[in-house]
Amino acid sequence: MSTLVGIGYDSHRLLAGRRLVIGGVELEHEQGLAGHSDADVLAHAVIDALLGAAGMGDIGEHFPDTDERWRDADSMQLLAHVYGLLDAEGLELVNVDCTIVMERPTLGARKVEIRDSLAATLRLDARRVNVKASTGEGIGFVGRGEGVAALAVASLHER
Ligand code: MG
Repeated sequence: MSTLVGIGYDSHRLLAGRRLVIGGVELEHEQGLAGHSDADVLAHAVIDALLGAAGMGDIGEHFPDTDERWRDADSMQLLAHVYGLLDAEGLELVNVDCTIVMERPTLGARKVEIRDSLAATLRLDARRVNVKASTGEGIGFVGRGEGVAALAVASLHER
């Protein structure tokens, strides 16, 4: 049985008047993430990790931001769609690990909610999903509060 590994990275700009949705969980903040879809930066990073492990390209190929179908899309539904693509190929998700890089708000206890949200969509035991939080330490676009980044790693088994 071979193990497949993929990485994902994404970043989105913070803007007033947008919702801040991370891993399908909406957070209270004066700004939210700008993008064609709901701009769920973590869902996008996890999608790219899954597609990477499966050798299926990247999120832009599957859900182009020029396509009106994906305007304001719920990115967790896109993640569920990608899970279905893997499942159809006989690929079984083993674990997902991710890091959210964000200055404010601090995630604290919401990390557990975000983990559970990802685990439910990916039909994984919550122990196989890990969500970490980091900050920009006041430097770079994250540190200046201009945006949020997310990284993810996923491993798969061929059934
Ligand atoms: Mg994105």
